[in-house]
Amino acid sequence: TTSTTRTELGAQTLWRQDRDHFIHPFTDYSTFHEQGCDLITDSDGIYVQDAHGNRFIDGIAGLWCVNVGHGRAEIGQAMADQATRMAYFSTFNNLSNAPAAELAAKLAELAPAHLNHVFYSCGGSAANDATIRLVHYYFNRLGKPSKKRIISRNNAYHGTTYMAATLTGIASNNWEFDTLDHLVTHLSEANCYRRPEGMSEAEYCDHLVAEFEETVERIGADNIAAFIAEPIMGAGGVLVAPEGYHARMQAVCRANDILFIADEVVTGFGRLGHFFASEKVFDTQPDIINCAKGLSSGYAPLGATLISDELFEVLGTPQGKGGVLSTGFTYSGHPVSCAAALKNIEIIEREDICKNVREVGPYLEERLKTLSHHATVGDVRGSHFMMCLENVADKATKELLPVDARVGDRVAFEAQQRGLIIRPVGHLNIVSPPLIWTRETVDRVVDILDEAFAATTESLREDGFL
Ligand code: PLP
Repeated sequence: TTSTTRTELGAQTLWRQDRDHFIHPFTDYSTFHEQGCDLITDSDGIYVQDAHGNRFIDGIAGLWCVNVGHGRAEIGQAMADQATRMAYFSTFNNLSNAPAAELAAKLAELAPAHLNHVFYSCGGSAANDATIRLVHYYFNRLGKPSKKRIISRNNAYHGTTYMAATLTGIASNNWEFDTLDHLVTHLSEANCYRRPEGMSEAEYCDHLVAEFEETVERIGADNIAAFIAEPIMGAGGVLVAPEGYHARMQAVCRANDILFIADEVVTGFGRLGHFFASEKVFDTQPDIINCAKGLSSGYAPLGATLISDELFEVLGTPQGKGGVLSTGFTYSGHPVSCAAALKNIEIIEREDICKNVREVGPYLEERLKTLSHHATVGDVRGSHFMMCLENVADKATKELLPVDARVGDRVAFEAQQRGLIIRPVGHLNIVSPPLIWTRETVDRVVDILDEAFAATTESLREDGFL
């Protein structure tokens, strides 16, 4: 790595400062007060390093976002140049900046043909939140103010602002939190592994589409503004919908004047082998695509909502004398974030990183599937650089291990001991690496995971869980 390893004393001070003062997102307070956090202090390519100097392969691209890999000096330089030249100025009231303008045009070029307008925010949650506000405004402007309800899905993850948390359908994410339930209805998720017994995948798809149609019938199309979906559900367990699902859901939307919003916060910017997956992989033409994460590869906070010409025609019309489109953030189109995104996109194009994903992705899928022989590995699923292993107690019944077996944590711990960071989410383990992994990286990772699952099986047996 580029910087020197911190002293042990320094590492301990940081650990304590962090534990005593930083309220961490999504952190388990049954262990945090004692264990605190592992501090990641350095990074390079596919590797990260902790404060003690231990080096790990990054199997989660930071948090599904460091798509071009770590330590890209040219992104750092582009950000430094922009920060030195003009770090910030307003984008409200007919003011703009060069990177925001250039990036908007670039996104319009990369996105499906009809998505030519960009609304900037600071991340994925804010992008989804701003989108729903704009969608409500759009229907209000069309004289259809009753169209308010948003259809989402169980196990969806759309973020944690109030609105985004309400769109989110992972029940445990909202335990003891409130949600804006009058605005959102959740359909079933598309979970092929746990679909009703005896149903073929095609029948399952019919079943899910019928559920949507019945819901529209029940609530009334006049009361529904939009349907929002991740092309592949991420945090909810990397759930790949049955063939044709998204296109058929979009057809229901079209027939009922319901907007189709694709949340490509994870799937965008190469993770499935294309800049955007909606059209190229799933044959849909969303009215709105949201992106964040890989947009800047996590080098700076940034979200973008890509909006169709048709919608913009309404959003871009003044409401009346003195009226302005009064929504947006101080940091909408932040020059330093946009400069990072532009350099990031340049790298993705120059190195043809999407091609690497299309070539190495299927190999990652194939090699991870070889782990199915382990006692707990019930399902290996996903696509390209978006993968998940589901742990079960019994492969035949798909019954889960008790929560206190903490199987996901055990696998992640064993992997980390062997130099690989993957993400535990309950009983799942997610692999969502930087998009620069090679076949050799995949081989090393699968060797580590092979040992990690074997060690997990052994420890679960020792503790009487298997
Ligand atoms: N949408 C999806 C599909 C996500 O996976 C995430 C984050 O993981 C978000 C939205 C929220 O993005 P952020 O954490 O940047 O607010």
